[in-house]
Amino acid sequence: MNIVYNFSAGPAMMPQDVMLKAREEFQNWNQSGSSIMEISHRSEEFIQVAAEAEQDLRDLLNIPDDFKVLFCQGGARGQFSAIPMNLLNGARKTDYINSGYWSYCAYIEAKKYCTPSEICIKKQCDEKIFLLPMSQWNINQNSAYIHYCPNETIDGLSIYEEPVFEKKVIIADFSSCILSRVINVNNYDLIYAGAQKNIGPAGITIIIIKEKMIRCFSKISPSILDYKTILIHQSMFNTPPTFSWYLSGLVFKWLKKQGGLKNIEKLNKKKSDLLYKKIDESDFYINNINDINRSMMNVVFYLKYPQLNHIFLEEADKLGLKYLKGHRIVGGMRASIYNAMPLTGIKTLIKFMSYFENRYG
Ligand SMILES: *Cc1c(COP(=O)(O)O)cnc(C)c1O
Repeated sequence: MNIVYNFSAGPAMMPQDVMLKAREEFQNWNQSGSSIMEISHRSEEFIQVAAEAEQDLRDLLNIPDDFKVLFCQGGARGQFSAIPMNLLNGARKTDYINSGYWSYCAYIEAKKYCTPSEICIKKQCDEKIFLLPMSQWNINQNSAYIHYCPNETIDGLSIYEEPVFEKKVIIADFSSCILSRVINVNNYDLIYAGAQKNIGPAGITIIIIKEKMIRCFSKISPSILDYKTILIHQSMFNTPPTFSWYLSGLVFKWLKKQGGLKNIEKLNKKKSDLLYKKIDESDFYINNINDINRSMMNVVFYLKYPQLNHIFLEEADKLGLKYLKGHRIVGGMRASIYNAMPLTGIKTLIKFMSYFENRYG
């Protein structure tokens, strides 16, 4: 098998070491003679795996004791509904920051349950796209919460500022940047993320929530999306996606072995800096996002001559540089370079980009 570098936005590449470990114990987990996916979620063995995954995640993100970690289903989109259903408590006003595709989707879904204010922070000035800094967000005094998305997976836009709004409930969709850098969990009330971008397997959604936010059972939420129900059943009210949970746990252990988020952040910065430098070096490749809002995870770029797009993709694919096609709504190219993408993948891509420019530029 030739080496393949998978730049897919999600489901995305998994760390090689994790894949090897999963393969090794696929049919015979922990010398039990069974696969982890064949055993009961209520068994002592699985409960141990689940608890370890939570503890490793807590260690990585330094999650304070007054936060609960929930493992749910329904993806990030499930949370677009679960958040208002669980947290409104009769309130109507909420603030939804629009910074791109996914935060806009969250806003549209919230309209079913409340009267969200759409606060657009994506701006353009002299061809440069940028996001308004938090100090300029037009927050409503009496909103029940602020929802925003620190990494817009499709637009390639990121917010690196930590939210500090006096007496405001802060909810953040970390689907495509969770565990990519050091954050201070204390600055948030609820962090959520589908696992299939920067953790690995689809099917599980992680929620990190301040315990005091989970006051009562929601009157309108389906039980499987109700935070209190999930909490009192230790994320096993219904059968959880056990294999995804186990794989996520392996990824957490791998991240710890890499030296934790400080090291991962350094490497992610290095990887994305190299790629943006390559893009900025010539006018053959284009990314017009302001430096401070450029995503470390999803690097969106365009070719000067869009008619070359399909040749670029075809030739890249032949060299094992896969799934570089941009999302259909923005076009161009997108290199998703999550934690699992090694530096050699970036270097191989850059080499190919130089060759391609020389040949066709
Ligand atoms: C992928 C993604 C979603 C949607 O995730 P699902 O798990 O498919 O519902 C939401 N928000 C962001 C930021 C994403 O990257």
